[in-house]
Amino acid sequence: NFKSVNDTLGHPTGDALLCDVAQRLGDACAGGFVARLGGDEFAVILPAAAGQPARVARSIIARMAEPFNVNGHRIVIGTSIGIALAPEDGTEATALLKNADLALYKAKNDGKNGFRFFEAAMDAEAQARRALEVDLHDALVKGELELYFQPLFSLAQSRVCAFEALLRWNHPVRGMVSPAQFVPLAEETGLIVPIGEWALHEACRIAASWPRELRVAVNISAVQFRSATLNTVVLQALAASGLDPARLELEITESLFIDNVEATLASLHALRRLGVRIALDDFGTGYSSLSYLRAFPFDKLKIDRSFIVDLLEHDGATAMIRAITSLAEALGMETTAEGVENIDQLDILRAQGCNTIQGFYFSRPLPAGEVMRLLTR
Ligand code: C2E
Ligand code: CA
Ligand code: CA
Ligand code: CA
Repeated sequence: NFKSVNDTLGHPTGDALLCDVAQRLGDACAGGFVARLGGDEFAVILPAAAGQPARVARSIIARMAEPFNVNGHRIVIGTSIGIALAPEDGTEATALLKNADLALYKAKNDGKNGFRFFEAAMDAEAQARRALEVDLHDALVKGELELYFQPLFSLAQSRVCAFEALLRWNHPVRGMVSPAQFVPLAEETGLIVPIGEWALHEACRIAASWPRELRVAVNISAVQFRSATLNTVVLQALAASGLDPARLELEITESLFIDNVEATLASLHALRRLGVRIALDDFGTGYSSLSYLRAFPFDKLKIDRSFIVDLLEHDGATAMIRAITSLAEALGMETTAEGVENIDQLDILRAQGCNTIQGFYFSRPLPAGEVMRLLTR
């Protein structure tokens, strides 16, 4: 039941596990010096005689990949390694550790069970990230965040049936910063929780002012989903705006199902009880498993843009769309195709039974004022 090594800390199993990890580390880098830095992090100092650092790193990763048996628990852990070399990356312990840590950060971003050597560019990148992070902190307070709304077009009704709220950051110096850039940063720093709360309130407030009772979809990041306050925030946003819960759709992604499936399902059901709709975003990427669809009755599947791009290029893509729309229909779920850019894609999607389309072909995301003009004209 442990989600991470950090979860085991303070538990007798954690102490025993860390001893075993240290033991294996010692075995994997004979002649080296192993120390625990804290939490689930270790430092290894290798003399030049220990051989190629890359070889040692691979050997550490291979050894750690074998499951641990601790107090009757079978524990599988992943390892990420950052490497700094003396003297080129620093001659003092603090500088070497800092640079190894930057490389570790990169290695983790690449995915589990990998290693990276420190590169000078990592330092510059880390500084840029920190600067952006400081700015993002202020963005909310200074009112630099804004929601744009992209229409979803119903193929059956031939009209707009909903809007997806998408974050925009108008930075006074940097200009428009893309959510692809700042949402991941906000997730890492936890800022996504207050930002997401603001987005929910703002989306509900604006949707409540529309002259037609259209739905509004709001993206919920995994970090925000796991925060204890999401239910309360959704309730407050609905209450403050007076928006009918049935008009609010929360978009979540499959990444929530990587671990803790039980807890994820419980939270989804709790949200559903508030009367809001739940859509599965970016469907078909990453961790797709049909078992999620059986485990939770989503209101909608949003077919990822990558499938739509493929439509005109691969023969199999149309069959794939067909399979998804048939499955969704059989399970009583709607389908939205994302990233529709031309009429050819639209024609195929219509023929394959997709319910709604969203994409530049119909409209780009629009500022709230333009949405109002669109709805009142
Ligand atoms: P997403 O949820 O998959 O949103 C769809 C993205 O595709 C949007 O990018 C949209 O502008 C873009 N898009 C729509 N139609 C087309 C098209 O025809 N062609 C192409 N190439 N792109 C199209 P955007 O607005 O840059 O947002 C990127 C991502 O940032 C979103 O992907 C979502 O994951 C995240 N995001 C945006 N707003 C929020 C938010 O309020 N909260 C959270 N947690 N994440 C957000
Ligand atoms: Ca860690
Ligand atoms: Ca989305
Ligand atoms: Ca999407």
